[in-house]
Amino acid sequence: MKIWHPFTQEKTAPLPLKIVRGDREYLYDEAGNSYVDMISSWWVNILGHSKPEIADAIAKQAHVLEHVIFAGYTHEPAEELVDILSQHLPKSLSKFFFSDNGSTAVEVALKMAYQYFLNKGINSRDIFVNLEGAYHGDTIGAMSAAGVNSEYHSKFKKFFFKTFSIKFPKNVEDENNSIKNLEEFLEKNHQKVCALIVEPLVQGAAGMKMYSPEFLDKIVETVRRYDILVIFDEVMTGFYRTGTMFAMNQTQNIPDIVCLSKALTGGFMPMSLTVTTEDIYNAFWSDDWGKAFIHGHSYTANPLACAAACATQKILQRSEIKQNIQQISETHKVRLAELSSKDILTHRSCGTISAIDLSSVALAKHIAKVMLQNGIIIRPLNNTIYFIPPYCISQQNLHKAYDLLEGHLGHDV
Ligand SMILES: *Cc1c(COP(=O)(O)O)cnc(C)c1O
Repeated sequence: MKIWHPFTQEKTAPLPLKIVRGDREYLYDEAGNSYVDMISSWWVNILGHSKPEIADAIAKQAHVLEHVIFAGYTHEPAEELVDILSQHLPKSLSKFFFSDNGSTAVEVALKMAYQYFLNKGINSRDIFVNLEGAYHGDTIGAMSAAGVNSEYHSKFKKFFFKTFSIKFPKNVEDENNSIKNLEEFLEKNHQKVCALIVEPLVQGAAGMKMYSPEFLDKIVETVRRYDILVIFDEVMTGFYRTGTMFAMNQTQNIPDIVCLSKALTGGFMPMSLTVTTEDIYNAFWSDDWGKAFIHGHSYTANPLACAAACATQKILQRSEIKQNIQQISETHKVRLAELSSKDILTHRSCGTISAIDLSSVALAKHIAKVMLQNGIIIRPLNNTIYFIPPYCISQQNLHKAYDLLEGHLGHDV
């Protein structure tokens, strides 16, 4: 094997399954077997595989303009996309910076926040505040922002910059302890804090851990008392994953910076956006080149990716998609409420995402294997099984996943 796969222990992992085709929620292997993609191919595919309208939009764009340098040049697909997204974002988020994946969207947000203060003559603010269990991507800055306790990244902690982690509350009563702990830290250190960065409402890679909009509002209001910037990493939560277009549509407070990627292009092309306010933008607006935001990637605002995103965003606003999202959310709630087994520690759902914590990692692995044998792809995170399907999934397939799960609880592994 010449290919080295991501997030894989190559020695012990089974050989990768070769996928030759995708259609709606289905993936097909070489032998013609079909699989329901219950994890939206790592959370990116929201409208189904090989969606013809998106494929056509990319093909059409490829015949006209495949790419152009984005410093000093612009193009219609980028401008159209920004116009579409502006209709759905809060008015205050009005400046769009392109990059090409979730991690770079986060890197851009971190650098923007830090340089915002530098440009205002403040160089003491170099600490980022995160929420325990955070995941913001795998590049050094994004790992760093998630903090030293991340199970994914702790090996690299000696390269990390300074962070403070808000304790993830064990329950609603515990939220006040987390806030108190944060307040104590800020009373002493607020002049050193640059920004808060959080995955709003759902921490994906941590195991689809969920928390209330009220708690998030309390965190935001606490840090804002000290002029600390607020970054929402909506790379996973964006585009109706949590039931609303963005998770921030469920909070009272609007962030200063938001990171978007994953479902932005319907899962067709890698692209991301870091969207910010006029106030932050204006701190970079100057006759002084030194105050500019000196950051960019070769494929910034790739026109093919922009064409895919425009097509995706237009489809996403159709009423039938909204109905599907509603139905998935309902089915999650109903089926979770019915689950009862000593093998289930807890379960939860938020919009189109559901998660079930099982009694052991071995059981989660066993169930993933059974599901695959029965034509459903899941990918547990430790002892947590989660479903995050494309919005086009049939109710029948969604129920099948729950039936299989139920059928394999309570047995010895
Ligand atoms: C996946 C993810 C990222 C990283 O995105 P990549 O495109 O994989 O680099 C960042 N933040 C969150 C919340 C994510 O879920």
